[in-house]
Amino acid sequence: MAVVKPFRAVRPRKDLVEKVVALPYDVMDRKEAKAMAKGNPYSFLHISRSEIDLPSSIDQYDKKVYRKARRNLDIFQDDGILVQDETPMIYLYRQTMNGNTQTGFVANTSIDDYVNNVIKKHELTLLSKERDRIKHFDACDANTSPIFMTYRRNERLAEILDEWTKKEPEIDIETEDGVGHIVWPITDEDIIAEITHEFAGIDSLYIADGHHRSASAAKVALKRRQDAPNCSGEEGFNFFMSVIFPEDCLNIMEYNRVVHDLNGLTEDQFIEKMEVIFDIEKSKGPFKPIVKGTFGMYLNKHWFKLQIKSTYKYGESVLSKIDGTILAEEVFIEILGIKNLRNSSRITFVGGIRGLKGIREKTDSHDGVGFAMFPVRMDELMDVSDSGLIMPVKSTWFEPKLRSGLFVHRFDSFNIVEGDGETSSGTQDYIDGVLDVVNKKDGNQKEFVQAVTEVFNSLGPVLEQHPEYVDNNILERIVEPERSITFRVPWVDDEGLVQVNRGFRVQFNGAIGPYKGGLRFHPTVYLGLIKFLGFEQIFKNSLTGLPIGGGKGGSDFSPLGKSDEEIRRFAESFMTELYRHIGPNVDVPAGDIGVGGREIGYLFGQYRRIKGSFENGVLTGKALVYGGSLIRPEATGFGATYFALQMLRHDGTDFKNKTVAASGFGNVAWGVCKKVRDLGGKVVTLSGPEGYVYDPDGITTQEKINYMLEMRANTDGKIEDYAKRFDVEFFPGEKPWGRKVDIVMPCATQNEIHLEDAKQIIENGVKYLVEGANMPTTNSAVEVLKEAGIIIGPGKAANAGGVATSALEMSQNSMRLSWTAEEVDSKLKEIMKNIYNSCVRASSRYGFGYDLIAGANIAGFEKVADAMIAQGKY
Ligand code: NAP
Repeated sequence: MAVVKPFRAVRPRKDLVEKVVALPYDVMDRKEAKAMAKGNPYSFLHISRSEIDLPSSIDQYDKKVYRKARRNLDIFQDDGILVQDETPMIYLYRQTMNGNTQTGFVANTSIDDYVNNVIKKHELTLLSKERDRIKHFDACDANTSPIFMTYRRNERLAEILDEWTKKEPEIDIETEDGVGHIVWPITDEDIIAEITHEFAGIDSLYIADGHHRSASAAKVALKRRQDAPNCSGEEGFNFFMSVIFPEDCLNIMEYNRVVHDLNGLTEDQFIEKMEVIFDIEKSKGPFKPIVKGTFGMYLNKHWFKLQIKSTYKYGESVLSKIDGTILAEEVFIEILGIKNLRNSSRITFVGGIRGLKGIREKTDSHDGVGFAMFPVRMDELMDVSDSGLIMPVKSTWFEPKLRSGLFVHRFDSFNIVEGDGETSSGTQDYIDGVLDVVNKKDGNQKEFVQAVTEVFNSLGPVLEQHPEYVDNNILERIVEPERSITFRVPWVDDEGLVQVNRGFRVQFNGAIGPYKGGLRFHPTVYLGLIKFLGFEQIFKNSLTGLPIGGGKGGSDFSPLGKSDEEIRRFAESFMTELYRHIGPNVDVPAGDIGVGGREIGYLFGQYRRIKGSFENGVLTGKALVYGGSLIRPEATGFGATYFALQMLRHDGTDFKNKTVAASGFGNVAWGVCKKVRDLGGKVVTLSGPEGYVYDPDGITTQEKINYMLEMRANTDGKIEDYAKRFDVEFFPGEKPWGRKVDIVMPCATQNEIHLEDAKQIIENGVKYLVEGANMPTTNSAVEVLKEAGIIIGPGKAANAGGVATSALEMSQNSMRLSWTAEEVDSKLKEIMKNIYNSCVRASSRYGFGYDLIAGANIAGFEKVADAMIAQGKY
């Protein structure tokens, strides 16, 4: 009873299918693979034959090759070249060649079926070839190409194939060899269930092509089961991806043979021995057999027709009646003395696709003898497989071949690739050495040191695998801002007095795009704080997958208690210096604490006045009327909630009926309240520096959400006002972390969750902490939370929705168009999902398992580090 399951395939983005798909990994050598992928960064060969991206001095079976395959697969997904389907599906895959058509089901088949012989084999495998794909699948945590299988005709399955292929296909391409590839995803759950049910009634599936890969997939699964005895059997590695065709549509071609010599016999002696078994007739021209039991023979530039004598005594077994067996036993072994067909260097196999010409050329080049075979029939192959026998080596040549890259099955098992997750003492010394330098130079900038330490904690295994990052001293370079600007901001208050604040802009790293990051107006701002935020921003911006570098700025100016006019005068003075350092292609600031739409408006007005031109791409977070984007105000909170949703989904749940403790009552908290409500949960706390409010009904009504905006717009607004207005309890001097909730979302400021708070959170049985704010959790709190099994969504990933939507605002500005709220929201949702997936993949790639903090640091770091190396020693 065959298990055939739907799965969430990873597939090329529709507009890139033709660029991605590639011939199977084993039909070319390294040089050919390199030539085929040349000039095409999308070719799947960068994954299936990843050695093409490494120096030729590196052996093709070196572990670096397998790691490169994994990295490339992750990059393809991170960059959206390959995209994973949302729901498990079965797909139909049709190939057409020379007017012939074969259509099969693409689905997951079971390793248990393979082991228990429900999936039948007809070929032996070579250990060395198996080893290669074992390492490849293990490193990639995926099957990168499907196994070619077949089954005996089933009426209902035939009807389904017929019905579905009448629909509009999703993919319909022709590759350069003239083969057509058409794909229909089956989305209908009932039909998927029916397919699964019909296959459950089929006794056997037969491997047509892919014996090595299926054997390798089985070995990977068995090893992983051994390593994790408590696994459920439902993990991705317990299944391997196949295309399963009904037997009657497959085209088996012959696999011809050329022996390089006559084993010391003269031509006459050889013919004489052959005549014992065959009737031999000289042919006028090339002879291609058209019935079973006949062969073409090419010898000394002549073609002969061979026919097995009618008196020949066939053996009992199905195998002994196969042409290939008779030729092997009677001719190769008996007459030509080839003991082992699998390993003999005296024999060459010529695929049927190369025709009789292929036999002639090979035979002439060796002065040997060539044999043209009649193709094995599908029923013979199945009979041999059913009898548990092995076909003679290389008996079948299937054409057309399945293309690689159309479907990938990822196991998503957070595997540890052998040797990963480790940091040698040499690498650790390098990391510690750079941290020493940071402490020596900037020890008084404690938030900055904290942020650097936190990122470096994740980088050991990355540097271990990428010595080029150490050789290029990337760490010491990345902690030094490319430029730090400190300036005087004089302004006149309502009393007519001249006040002076300090302004900052740190342009931290521009390797992947113009600097981008918010401005913070808050009395706590100093260089160290801006450097910490700028440093975080490098990785956050890189994680969005958009071309934006990291920067941050601000001032120690406090908007609290200031009049609107004072804020305007301050903002204009601030921009009077800042304008010379920024620009749409240079540095694009946005808001942060204390800088919202009003402040951005004053800043933009001053920029425009000084420059005398309308460059609305210079700032983001603008009002709609002059180039702002819908959803930008909500984006950080919405994004953090979408990120949290992915974390919940990972555990098979969602926001429905979940409670959230949030802190702050500003921009991010506001977005979180709205989106959590939309997704069926409720935020029950908000806070300010003076304490927090607990609203057991949740901040869910429009009135409450609008009131948050009012409080924020009022520069004298305090969180206690909310308690008074909605008659809920206010807890002065306390933080909301003592509340029993499902999810904690700090949305106020850095270091608001200390060790003691973490302990309370653990006691309350909270499962998830999602950081809306930047670095709200101290490193020691993170440590105990992680130890207690709480899943942390780190700020640099979870709150990246703000900057990502800023980048969408920039795109709209440069294209001079405005997307609808729905368009921006759906793009934001997609970006957050991609960021989450990038974190998950990077974390598992380097042996951290499911660790979103490590994943965010690594995924953000790698891209920037690679860009830095590519740009020389900047
Ligand atoms: P915001 O609108 O100014 O809100 C910050 C809120 O936190 C205010 O309600 C503030 O209250 C409160 N708060 C400040 N210090 C506090 C403390 N010690 N304890 C409790 N509450 C405190 O700023 P925001 O834009 O929401 O930013 C919040 C966090 O998210 C920051 O870490 C920021 O860097 C990060 N972030 C923001 C964005 C964005 O797009 N806005 C993007 C990414 C990350 P008071 O007004 O009374 O001080």
